[in-house]
Amino acid sequence: MKTTLTLLALATLLCACQKQPDHVHLHEPAAEHAEHGEHPPAAALGQHQHGIAQLALLQQQQQLLLSATLPAETLWGFERMPNTAAEHAQVERGLKQLTAGHRFFRLLGNGHCQPQSVEIIKPAGLTDPNANHMEVNANWLWQCQDPAQVTGFSTDLFKHYPALQQLQAQILLEQVNHGAVLDKHNNQVEW
Ligand SMILES: [Zn+2]
Repeated sequence: MKTTLTLLALATLLCACQKQPDHVHLHEPAAEHAEHGEHPPAAALGQHQHGIAQLALLQQQQQLLLSATLPAETLWGFERMPNTAAEHAQVERGLKQLTAGHRFFRLLGNGHCQPQSVEIIKPAGLTDPNANHMEVNANWLWQCQDPAQVTGFSTDLFKHYPALQQLQAQILLEQVNHGAVLDKHNNQVEW
């Protein structure tokens, strides 16, 4: 349990760092162009940008933690307090999908890892009528027999979330320090 807490604390720290500067809003005309294939320059790591999620893979002893920060807009289409029963249901569905999120990832190699626990941190803005922009933080924990034998991962997130365009990943394992940018054409990273 202590290990889990330490990893989660580290994930929270990373998450906090990544939130500066805050909120690049992409409902600007420039962003509309991006959706039609004209990609603007990549945003600096960690900026809140619709369609772009941050991922950190962290290790403590035999545990691997995947910590994701996902714009709510990319998950369920809006970033404000849900107003109708349908919108509430949409948000609940989105959060529930993430609780089963281990299945969105395949750890490569012979680490013999088993899903262990999950923590989904709901955006505070879901109950704030003045909220705009929000992110969901998801932490998926695996217990591995031999984490040094984990040699990469692939993800199905792009299939499940068509609005997701890019995953900016940081792999910070005991013997690996690696960054990668994934998208639907390149949904795997190896190290
Ligand atoms: Zn936003």
